[in-house]
Amino acid sequence: MPTPRKPSAAGRGLIFGDLWEFDPAPETADPKLKERYELFIDGAFARPRTGKYFDSINPANERKLSEIALAGAADVDLAYKAAARAFPRWSALPGRERGKYLFRIARLLQDRAREFAVAETLDGGKPIKESRDFDVPMAAAHFFYHAGWADKLEYVAPGRRVVPLGVVGQVIPWNFPLLMLAWKLAPALAMGNCVVLKPAETTSITAMKLCEILQDADLPPGVVNLVTGAGETGAAVMGHPLAAKVAFTGSTEVGKAIMRQLAGTKKKMTMELGGKAANIIFDDAPIDQAVEGIVNAIFFNQGHVCCAGSRLLVQESVAERVVSKLKNRIRVLRVGDPLDKNTDLGAINSREQLSTIRRLVASGVREGAVMYQSPCVLPEKGFYFPPTLFTKVTQSHRIAREEIFGPVLSILTFRTVDEAIEKANNTAFGLSAGVWTDKGSRILRMSTELKAGVVWANTFNRFDPSSPFGGYKESGFGREGGRQGLLDYGALA
Ligand code: NAP
Ligand code: MG
Repeated sequence: MPTPRKPSAAGRGLIFGDLWEFDPAPETADPKLKERYELFIDGAFARPRTGKYFDSINPANERKLSEIALAGAADVDLAYKAAARAFPRWSALPGRERGKYLFRIARLLQDRAREFAVAETLDGGKPIKESRDFDVPMAAAHFFYHAGWADKLEYVAPGRRVVPLGVVGQVIPWNFPLLMLAWKLAPALAMGNCVVLKPAETTSITAMKLCEILQDADLPPGVVNLVTGAGETGAAVMGHPLAAKVAFTGSTEVGKAIMRQLAGTKKKMTMELGGKAANIIFDDAPIDQAVEGIVNAIFFNQGHVCCAGSRLLVQESVAERVVSKLKNRIRVLRVGDPLDKNTDLGAINSREQLSTIRRLVASGVREGAVMYQSPCVLPEKGFYFPPTLFTKVTQSHRIAREEIFGPVLSILTFRTVDEAIEKANNTAFGLSAGVWTDKGSRILRMSTELKAGVVWANTFNRFDPSSPFGGYKESGFGREGGRQGLLDYGALA
């Protein structure tokens, strides 16, 4: 194997021998960041009653990007009161009028797509090619899709009338900050609800930038209110008495805590929680295509993906071939500066997440699995982790059971279809799964027997606003996207 060269000072990815080398290709659009982001309540940016701010940093170099307002219970209360005041008029608007606002938001986001992509990459560490080609266009697509629904709500539940719920409280995670915001806001607004939302502590910037768009779109004050902060602020959003419904995306652990907090109340709930998806490779699969699919399934967004294919189940007869091709492939993944257009894996979102990944990887080694890591040289500053895979993993290993939420793949093998199904379903989660095979009949059987909300066949990590997404078991309940997602924001009258 050729010897890796050190990356440039900019922290570019690994380059091998003299085979090929890319020049740095940094994205240079201005993200137009503010020094300070206030709360967004009742259509205006407002200082927090707490008087406190916290830093948002760039995980690629640990430098401070901006200061974010810390909302306390009093701020959350103001946000809910503004939403409750806005609700009667917003919900009474004809659907086509609400649709116009959503179309406008989608178009304004498209206009500022490059700026948003750079901001997302700076704040969260994901490669620019992903924020540019996935996060921002998909966020716009969700607003477009739901704009189209706003005047067709009589078709959401044929034969029944669907009415909005009132004020909805929403809390989202840091892995797809803008996209999760769009997943939450667009269906809630199309249905006629008003919203109080909290972004994740480490990634609030694009959410606050979206509030600039909400102002430019002339969205009536109070329809959307954003409160920034950490877990305590999130608990205040979930627990507020004015919330008719709460929608949460995040870890199973926090999801359970919220359910305990809200037990006994009449609030409607949806929970989009963690996952430990099986990606299943049969011996009749197109192997090279499957290897690309495995790479996409686990290394997309550094593995910070709830539906990541983090457990590879490969049929024994092809296991050696698949693993050897995978090792070759991950050696050439470029890890480094997220703003470089050639980067495949950017920075891990936070120091805390990096230590979680390290802790779980150490447990894999301790418990007897065999680790292989890309020999890439990581930038000295910032939070990075090399693409990693484990062979000789057993079902009892922690790395086969717990969500690592990083670029780490656990590989298990199987002999028969039944064994594949048994092993794939042997998890507390049930968010997604992948099946790679030549046979349509096998895809059909697997997709019925796998206990997962989404099953991809001969592909992975495909999304569309019209396709409902959500979990089984400890991966949560409720759906986002499609008609089913809209139904979760309404009540049958
Ligand atoms: P997390 O720690 O559960 O946090 C999610 C959000 O909840 C953050 O905004 C967080 O605030 C807030 N929060 C923390 N404690 C809270 C509490 N007691 N009450 C209310 N809110 C609280 O999860 P994460 O680490 O940000 O995200 C990763 C997790 O999300 C993974 O498990 C992943 O699988 C899951 N996820 C699921 C989906 C899906 O659709 N199923 C999609 C994406 C991610 P802070 O910002 O201060 O932590
Ligand atoms: Mg940040």
